[in-house]
Amino acid sequence: MPDQSLIDAERAKPVPPQGHFIDGAWGPASDGGTRPVISPIDGRPFATIAEGTAEDVDCAVAAARAAFEDGRWSGLAPAARKRVLHRFADLVERNALELAVLGVRDNGTEIGMAIRAEPGSCAGTLRFYAEAADKIGGEIAPSSPDILALVHREPVGVVGAIVPWNFPLMIAAWKIAPALAAGNTVVLKPSETASLTVLRLAELGAEAGLPPGVLNVVSGSGSVVGEAMGLHMDIDVLAFTGSGATGRRLLDYAARSNMKRCYLELGGKSPNVVFADAPDLEEAARVTAHGIFRNSGQVCIAGSRLIVERSIHADFTRRVAEIAAAMRVGDPLDADTQIGAVHSEAQLSANLRFVETARAEGGEVLTGGDRILAETGGYYMAPAVVDNVAPTAALFRNEVFGPVLSVTPFDTVDQAIALANGTDFGLAGAVWT
Ligand code: NDP
Repeated sequence: MPDQSLIDAERAKPVPPQGHFIDGAWGPASDGGTRPVISPIDGRPFATIAEGTAEDVDCAVAAARAAFEDGRWSGLAPAARKRVLHRFADLVERNALELAVLGVRDNGTEIGMAIRAEPGSCAGTLRFYAEAADKIGGEIAPSSPDILALVHREPVGVVGAIVPWNFPLMIAAWKIAPALAAGNTVVLKPSETASLTVLRLAELGAEAGLPPGVLNVVSGSGSVVGEAMGLHMDIDVLAFTGSGATGRRLLDYAARSNMKRCYLELGGKSPNVVFADAPDLEEAARVTAHGIFRNSGQVCIAGSRLIVERSIHADFTRRVAEIAAAMRVGDPLDADTQIGAVHSEAQLSANLRFVETARAEGGEVLTGGDRILAETGGYYMAPAVVDNVAPTAALFRNEVFGPVLSVTPFDTVDQAIALANGTDFGLAGAVWT
């Protein structure tokens, strides 16, 4: 963790107005539109971004198509692409603190987690795919002696990438690193509520040597920029991380346009199953609390459902609630903070509604569940542990994407398995035994 004075110095830096990054240059929205960037730390605006339009998407796709077709990137030797991607990773690492602090101002993640998960993972992913560029090749398929069947890997063309607000850099890297390594060009749309680090990433990519038009970033809303990308006839692939509802929309856009391939990475309601024979129940309780509450629960693989054997249910749940109540919630740019800000006012309201509904459906709130630190103007919530949540309750079945843990006891292994599988989600899971 960097020194607090370095974090504070980064926090104090003004952020100039941001445009789109298209064809290697900054530019405004086609109609000049902008939107303020509100920090969840204090609820105040601290920057502006361009409010993208469908025309901006057309412009970015045209740049990406031209860059793809003339081979300025796809035509390079794989080892040359590898070198650029490694330089890109170097620059992300060199600017890690700036990226992490800028990201926290934008999305509220606690700084310790942001440094590891954002520039840290982003650089790691760039390096992994840099190496893949000249290591993953074609094959000669097994066939009869008179037939030669070659499997040749080639880039698809223009990749549209749409990412959410919780870990914008890490998730952007999951999309752009493999796409660029293979020689594709990219149009990337960050969330309208967390664009700043992704815009800076585009600049670092250019500095690393990505030719103009290879990596373009268009900021703006999902309903305008995202939809225009989904329906675009000249985007060949969509790579998406976000909610199931938006994932469905993208499949619909693809079906209504050019049947582009869609890679969807969606939400979760991950079970954390604890049996009475787990060797270290104190550690299980600690990891259970941290596994749901870090980044205010805004993690796709957060263990949001505790499913616990009845013989230890009361003691174990009480222990998790004690740990939750003791976690330090506050300014995410304070190095000692364990739980930062909820990303937005809308997300905070949705979280609070989930707790209210859980209560109405018979759940018992053991700790948390309220807005706190409202005097800061920021969006903070005390981590909530809700006991005895029925498998039919909304809190058991739906992703909150907030600091709310649902607890449900079980008696038999079969019951535990049925409960673990008892939602429409299937992203991650844990078993302690
Ligand atoms: P959303 O689905 O609301 O948004 C994700 C992205 O899609 C954003 O860039 C958003 O833009 C864009 N979008 C929204 N509406 C449309 C539309 N109609 N057409 C095209 N694009 C659109 O998810 P959140 O940002 O709220 O992210 C949280 C979700 O992401 C959770 O469900 C979480 O579990 C999931 N997630 C999954 C991960 C995984 O690895 N499986 C990792 C991280 C998160 P804008 O915000 O500008 O409106």
